[in-house]
Amino acid sequence: MYAQPAAANYHSTPSHPSAKQRGYRVCDSCGTIEQPNTRFRLCGGCMTTQYCSQECQKSHWASHKQICQHTSSTISAQKQSAMGAGFDEDVVKGLRKFTSAHQTLLSWAGFQAMQLKRMPSNIRQQALLIELNYRPSSDSLRRFSVKGTHIVPRTYVTDNDALVADDIRRREERCRRTGGIGTAVIIIQCGEVSQVMPVEVDSPNKISWDARDDWRDVLAHFVDAGRTDFKPISTTARGVVYG
Ligand SMILES: [Zn+2]
Ligand SMILES: [Zn+2]
Repeated sequence: MYAQPAAANYHSTPSHPSAKQRGYRVCDSCGTIEQPNTRFRLCGGCMTTQYCSQECQKSHWASHKQICQHTSSTISAQKQSAMGAGFDEDVVKGLRKFTSAHQTLLSWAGFQAMQLKRMPSNIRQQALLIELNYRPSSDSLRRFSVKGTHIVPRTYVTDNDALVADDIRRREERCRRTGGIGTAVIIIQCGEVSQVMPVEVDSPNKISWDARDDWRDVLAHFVDAGRTDFKPISTTARGVVYG
């Protein structure tokens, strides 16, 4: 059921005060946080890892090369297998775009699903698997809908692919050095095609997101509507707050 995952590079960054509780991309080389007025460059090989500058991309290549080549060969293998299974060949590319566009929503759903506010240690045991349906559509943001969500053991990913396990471990260590609880693993899957999204998670006492029972509905709603403007929902003394 589980095809080899490709490692992605999405984070909820703990170190920047204004970035707290939000999903932010960090430069995989120097750790700089992407700001609204800066544009990170995407590694053209794996199309997942991000850098703040050409210099960082260059200096990181020696250590990035192995996972990059692994990810790009996984992408081409998934393309082949998707076409073999009768999927639109765009499904692989579409899934990566989907993951990138819904980064904040998917991170939030993982936080809720694994109940990280109450049980931070779940982060090392569990992973959230989000199964998607594909539907051809001219609107690239509406090509997927949520088929189902499952909590699976994290070993589902880490036992399957040593390189991705290493990449997750590296992110986990970086995250915990800066006070976070570790790397939440979210698996996005559509038929034969799947992708792993590691999210570095801040300490729960810095996150005001509460445990939400309705996270599945919220997830399905934003995905079905093709809405990428999700802001984490929390419950406060003022009631339910969106954003
Ligand atoms: Zn950098
Ligand atoms: Zn790469």
